[in-house]
Amino acid sequence: MKIIMLGAPGAGKGTQAKKIAAKYHVPHISTGDIFRANIKEGTELGKKAQEYMDQGLLVPDELVCDLVVDRIHKDDCENGFILDGFPRTIPQADALDGALAQNGEKIEYAIDVEVPDENIIKRMAGRRSCKDCGAIFHLVYNPPKKENCCDVCGGPLVLRDDDKEETVKKRLDVYHEQTAPLIDHYKKAGSLYEVDGTQDINVVFEEIESILEA
Ligand code: ADP
Ligand code: AMP
Repeated sequence: MKIIMLGAPGAGKGTQAKKIAAKYHVPHISTGDIFRANIKEGTELGKKAQEYMDQGLLVPDELVCDLVVDRIHKDDCENGFILDGFPRTIPQADALDGALAQNGEKIEYAIDVEVPDENIIKRMAGRRSCKDCGAIFHLVYNPPKKENCCDVCGGPLVLRDDDKEETVKKRLDVYHEQTAPLIDHYKKAGSLYEVDGTQDINVVFEEIESILEA
């Protein structure tokens, strides 16, 4: 099961990817999480990535592609993987498709979670992520049981630095310019599946289950 999640920032890719990973036992690989972990650890990669992330820009392809290609060749990806936040540009999609093609493989499901821009700003302002384990909550749509406390590990919940309204607007522009063309790319490849991401989290997941189990 080789899956990628497409959709604007805040569409619910991470939320759904975690549910898919738990149900179908494939690793959830989020490039955003990988960069945030590197920032936290103060690595060279983290320092470089942060310059771009803080401005709502994409990290350059050359810092992302090899990292992901190496990751999907690890043993735990033998039965597939779910990529969340990658690819985000046509060159990234080409690098991914090329690496898979070397073994006669391809992306089977490109799941596009569709949410209009006007809903995104509201979603991002309410997003809270666990500082320790990365679990995702929303103050209104998916609140934690205890205020500011992660249901999964008890860690503190924080607003991401790049979820400020001005940065979100920039990220949306970047999405439309650089990432949205991937919808057509995977449509042509015959692996595009679209879901309405404005529905309740569990309803979106049911739609994804029916795609993956058809
Ligand atoms: P992405 O990974 O695409 O950036 P997230 O999964 O982090 O998006 O979701 C962004 C925010 O929206 C989070 O606060 C999440 O709890 C919330 N969210 C996700 N899916 C839905 C949904 N279907 N309806 C309402 N809120 C949602
Ligand atoms: P995310 O957690 O997916 O919302 O990603 C947060 C930020 O990390 C993005 O706004 C980008 O700056 C950076 N990033 C994550 N994935 C990629 C990628 N595939 N290509 C370039 N930048 C990325």
